[in-house]
Amino acid sequence: MKVLKFGGTSVGTREALELAAEIIGRELPQGGLVVVSALSGTTDLILKAIHASAKGDLEAAGAARIALEARHWAAARALGVDEAVRPHWEPLFQSLAGLLQGMGLLWEASPRSRDAALALGETLSARLLETLLERRGLPAHFRDVREVLRTDARHGRARPDLERIREAAGPWREGLAKGALWVTQGFLGTAPDGSTTTLGRGGSDTTATLLGEALGAEEVQIWTDVDGVLSADPSLVPEARPIPVMSLREAAALSAFGAKVLHADALAPVSRAGFGLVVANTHRPEGSRTEIRAEAPARRPGEITSVAYKEGVSCLRVPPAQDSELLFQASTRLLEAGASLYGLLATPDGGLLVAKGETADSEAVLRDLAASGLSVQRGWAAVALVGEGLREAPGRALSLLGPLVDEPVAAILAGDTGVSLAFLVPDHRLSLLIPRLHSHCIEAAPRSGP
Ligand code: ADP
Ligand code: ASP
Ligand code: MG
Repeated sequence: MKVLKFGGTSVGTREALELAAEIIGRELPQGGLVVVSALSGTTDLILKAIHASAKGDLEAAGAARIALEARHWAAARALGVDEAVRPHWEPLFQSLAGLLQGMGLLWEASPRSRDAALALGETLSARLLETLLERRGLPAHFRDVREVLRTDARHGRARPDLERIREAAGPWREGLAKGALWVTQGFLGTAPDGSTTTLGRGGSDTTATLLGEALGAEEVQIWTDVDGVLSADPSLVPEARPIPVMSLREAAALSAFGAKVLHADALAPVSRAGFGLVVANTHRPEGSRTEIRAEAPARRPGEITSVAYKEGVSCLRVPPAQDSELLFQASTRLLEAGASLYGLLATPDGGLLVAKGETADSEAVLRDLAASGLSVQRGWAAVALVGEGLREAPGRALSLLGPLVDEPVAAILAGDTGVSLAFLVPDHRLSLLIPRLHSHCIEAAPRSGP
């Protein structure tokens, strides 16, 4: 059994949806599960509408909602399925209008009501793909992922409840074993009280791998808009190369350090369950792709496979004489509020905590810590060189840092798996440094075999 996940740009236009339908027909002749994101831009548009409603601006909220509806109807019409999808979509659009109206009357958008509204994006696209597949003669059916994907109650950044997901997935395992072809939503879950949750931006990759784990899939395929995982973010490095095979450790480090192509939480289910993970391009299905495997491919000692970065990172410092306990307390508070931590260092020469406030709550904690007298410097980026070659020869990585000699590097952080070497540079240096590091550490280096 395979799980195929299609991201926003893979379901964003008529052409992309047709390509996705072709891929599904080819990859899942005996049935399987398809996970979809919302049409590209939809989640942002819903957030815009929520934001306007929460300020009581029902006019702006209405305008965003109407733009969203128009965009969806245009896609459905272009595919010739507007009438077929109408009975599924009308109640969804009504529900979105109702939610926005409610938020607008109360001037308030709680995380719980935000998730209820965001859920409509993925539900609309799953219904569209179901209808398109049916139109093409495939026996596809929509199944609501919220039947299975149980989470905690942290709306906006919910964590999966693996035990309950396994239990709830029983009927899905049976149905899929009999050859069903189901289309479901990425990004969404169900809290213990039955309300809708979301897994954090970009979370549909994690939906696919969590379902792959719970359903005992042999393979999960992530279909996106690039030729697999590349050696750097192509928006900063147009020369970035596809990586044909990479280890799970490399992929996990890359996504943790911000490579958007895979959601940071998507790799844990793969490492627990051991299924194959493939990243491929919906727009060029015959092009190159990336296979992510548990075991490490052969790499030259010191070889770097990719460069990643995370912007908007903060450095919290305590001076040498002060109690580093302050940093431990700060890190606990930040983690609880949903921040990502990139390093916690206590040395006789002072302490350093590196964190990114990913949520409004953790941003508030950062402001609070700064107000309480801790030094909080904003505007840093964590850059990571990633490669299995670093495990073989960790010291060689230092020789790769030549391009940084004149940079105000704030800290050097080694990853605990040994496949990443990260350091902090000012955010505004990224567009210059990432291409320079890519050219120095990857383009200029000899390649090893696959
Ligand atoms: P989807 O909508 O399919 O989930 P995303 O936009 O979330 O797609 O992720 C794919 C994007 O990730 C690519 O278009 C690319 O701009 C970006 N990206 C950043 N770093 C990398 C990388 N190392 N390899 C591939 N893509 C990357
Ligand atoms: N639609 C959601 C987002 O834009 C989830 C995803 O695309 O994975 O963040
Ligand atoms: Mg994504």
